[in-house]
Amino acid sequence: MRPARALIDLEALRHNYRLARQLGGGRALAVVKADAYGHGAVRCALALQDEADGFAVACIEEALALRDAGIRAPILLLEGFFDADELALVVQHDLWTVVHARWQVEALERTPLPRPLQVWLKLDSGMHRVGLDAADYRDAWQRLRALPHVGDIVKMSHFARADEPDCVRTAEQLANFASVTVGLAGETSLCNSPALLGWPQARADWARPGLMLYGVSPFAQANDIAAQLRPVMTLESKVIAVRELPAGEPVGYGARFVTERPTRIGVVAMGYADGYPQFAVNGTPVAIDERPGRLVGRVSMDMLTVDLTDHPQAGVGSRVELWGNQVPAAQVVAHSQTSAYRLLCAVKRAPLQYVG
Ligand SMILES: *Cc1c(COP(=O)(O)O)cnc(C)c1O
Repeated sequence: MRPARALIDLEALRHNYRLARQLGGGRALAVVKADAYGHGAVRCALALQDEADGFAVACIEEALALRDAGIRAPILLLEGFFDADELALVVQHDLWTVVHARWQVEALERTPLPRPLQVWLKLDSGMHRVGLDAADYRDAWQRLRALPHVGDIVKMSHFARADEPDCVRTAEQLANFASVTVGLAGETSLCNSPALLGWPQARADWARPGLMLYGVSPFAQANDIAAQLRPVMTLESKVIAVRELPAGEPVGYGARFVTERPTRIGVVAMGYADGYPQFAVNGTPVAIDERPGRLVGRVSMDMLTVDLTDHPQAGVGSRVELWGNQVPAAQVVAHSQTSAYRLLCAVKRAPLQYVG
């Protein structure tokens, strides 16, 4: 059997959730959208269900998959409903919904519901993606407050640049949120992972950690709190062939690596079709039989190549970690023109195996 696999450490996931929740000082929705950033939403939610205050997903399809698996905790739809027809399902499955646009307020006004719905009313405080404008926010809040079928209203917003330490834009978004929502009753939710880790002023009733749950820092720089996270995913495979080459020989597509000395090349069963970044550069760190090593040559669809010259003990069958406990995913990110988010979401084909 092909040895490529992604081990998912559910105990590390629980550890990271506890850290996020404690940091926020209130409650925390575990963000498990996009199949829990590639880690398997159902298994991750089941592993967290005894302690998570709730979950957040991108859409109703993702929420229903969790309900079908028996998850009873609150589930928030981060983009709300995509059309008014979904509202019946939202109530039937006891979901919470973001409201980020005026048409959604109007749809709620037109649609009587059998039970009160919890709404998270989103302000565009400066990211300019979704959210009500400052000019519409208070009016929307009053109109929703007047509806008998709207229950609690949580005030929320989202930061564009919380991963940049001391970025003035985040401070501006915070001030904007405070001034628009002043005097409106109810709880507040602002923090994604970088805000939780880097912006204590933004902590509020509810946090919405995503990336940090999976044990990866959102920061390019070192961060003391992020250093306490434990990697959840270990992507690994094995050496399936070895080449002994003299100096001056090209390796792989496009001759992106040329040997500079007599070199032993190990071919690993892992490629970009598994989600390993295609454009990881020569020297991207890997671990070979638990020792630091490096990628050389261009990553192909099903295979990649590593330098075994300084690993005389290694050969066919040696274990290669692409990222995980020994190779921080953030280091792979730094070598491959991608983001930690995309790195994790891209994992596929390599089967997920759960431990803990
Ligand atoms: C995805 C998402 C989050 C989680 O963000 P991370 O940076 O992964 O922690 C939080 N809030 C909203 C609105 C999101 O879309």
